[in-house]
Amino acid sequence: MSMIHDDPSDFAEDSASGFADLYSSRLRAVPGGVVRRHRPAEPKVSIIFGGGSGHYPAFAGLVGPGLGDGAVMGNIFTSPSTAQAYSVGRATDTRQGVIYSYGNYAGDVMNFGLAGDRLKSEGIDARQVIVTDDIASSPAEAAEERRGIAGDLVVYKVLGAAAEKGLDINEVERLGNHANARTFTLGVAFTGCTFPGATEPLFTVPEGKMGLGMGIHGEPGLRDVEWVPATELAEILVDTLLEERPADVSGRVGVIVNGLGRTKYEELFLLYGRIAPRLCAAGLEIVSPEVGELVTSLDMGGVSLTLVWLDEDLEELWLAPADSPAFRRGSVEEDAEEDEGQPTTDVADVPVVTVVGSELSCAAAGVAVAALSAMKDVLEENEAQLGDLDAVAGDGDHGRGMTRGVRYAHAAAEHARTDGWGMAGVLGAAGDAWGEFAGGTSGVLWGAGLRSFGGALGNETVVTGESVGAAVHAFLDALVSLGHAEVGDKTLVDAVVPFLTEFEEQLGREEGLVAAWASAASRAKQAADATERLSPKKGRARPLAERSIGSPDPGAMSFAMVVGAVSEVLAKD
Ligand code: ADP
Ligand code: MG
Repeated sequence: MSMIHDDPSDFAEDSASGFADLYSSRLRAVPGGVVRRHRPAEPKVSIIFGGGSGHYPAFAGLVGPGLGDGAVMGNIFTSPSTAQAYSVGRATDTRQGVIYSYGNYAGDVMNFGLAGDRLKSEGIDARQVIVTDDIASSPAEAAEERRGIAGDLVVYKVLGAAAEKGLDINEVERLGNHANARTFTLGVAFTGCTFPGATEPLFTVPEGKMGLGMGIHGEPGLRDVEWVPATELAEILVDTLLEERPADVSGRVGVIVNGLGRTKYEELFLLYGRIAPRLCAAGLEIVSPEVGELVTSLDMGGVSLTLVWLDEDLEELWLAPADSPAFRRGSVEEDAEEDEGQPTTDVADVPVVTVVGSELSCAAAGVAVAALSAMKDVLEENEAQLGDLDAVAGDGDHGRGMTRGVRYAHAAAEHARTDGWGMAGVLGAAGDAWGEFAGGTSGVLWGAGLRSFGGALGNETVVTGESVGAAVHAFLDALVSLGHAEVGDKTLVDAVVPFLTEFEEQLGREEGLVAAWASAASRAKQAADATERLSPKKGRARPLAERSIGSPDPGAMSFAMVVGAVSEVLAKD
């Protein structure tokens, strides 16, 4: 539990601003995060890390020569927005390309992916190196679906060192992916973690137990096992990791014993003292081990062990010098000039679009703003409930993300309407604001979904049942093209598809728009409730699928709430 804050909802921003001030001689704050203050001596591939806050020193504490060029800092446990990731990438680019690297979480994959697309559309090469080291989160056959946890540090170190050597972007990317393929982590949780300002932890570990296979976003362990003394804990961690020893390795391994936030350094040293002999007994040689807090999870009690199977390339990069606020190795050469920063966006690059609407479209846009206001009310009312649902198998931020997103969306829509924008303009502005400020998986999905919904309605034409059907289709297409979820994967798609089907069926029966929407909304509510039986196949909840059974999908529930609230507005207007 954090004891130091003013308004807890500003915790991440307030902490980031103190951090940037403290390290102002070496880092510079830019919209979305921080970058190295000094330009590298030679143009080089720029390496950007990022993700939600709450993991310090990941990610901002790892920015500096030999490591990252910038870090994108989302809200607590929430993926940064596309705009944040783009802004940091753009600020560090030296025309050698940008590599984004982050743990494998749907929201991060989507937002960094979209930021990369945006850089590419401006002629900047952009790549993605996704970390998947957590062996507890998927079996070896589906290793590409695993989450990224403390192995982040290995991949970041390798990318940073390879870029610093002046290698080209193909080679740096290849080495980053190679490091990831050779990095394996397993962790245990002893106590849960608590959001700043909250009084209850996101999960608890029963007395006398440990959560084996913990996540780093307040996801509990995959199963609770009996607490064991340190020697046995070392055996469990080492032996389980050795089961995945790749076939063609030398016996040299890099080792990280990582504390999750509350576990004391003395405990970590003690555990290392039990781990090292067990690795040696297995015939392995330990190369430059790291023990400390490297990727944390707020104030969670717990520890993880990471092994990276080194070859000649990886060993050189693992050992290369680095100098960041939280991680140093050897001595690095000073960077060249001070970088006071280029503008992050060229005004000339911003396309000018006409969004002023026809009279009919403007009238409809008024209804859209009223609908957003009703959405805001219902989401605010249910914020805690949605957070609790998300904490069952996810990270507990769904309520916060949705309310934050809808507030900004509503404000942006209101502005756009006052300026005489039509449906596409108003909902496009609302979607962009949602995606920009909410972060997380639901933020990017709702942002893109609203923009597409509005786009289908245009700024000119009258809104009819048929055009709204096409708009819901466009909303669904945007979700699917970003998240690739199918019906049955336990996501909001499981509520959107029945909503759309019912809506179109009712229109087919000559029902009007208002009646069709109402009936579709109640169908969406049933479908959202029914997701309770499903096991999640996408998103953060997937590794904890079993826990999730019996509890409905938070994203499907919030969708049902939203369409329910809109239904009331339509009935009135
Ligand atoms: P995060 O998972 O990044 O913390 P939220 O908690 O705000 O984001 O949203 C979680 C919801 O996002 C889930 O309940 C699910 O409905 C939805 N979701 C997750 N992954 C996907 C996906 N790949 N496609 C569609 N929806 C998804
Ligand atoms: Mg969540």
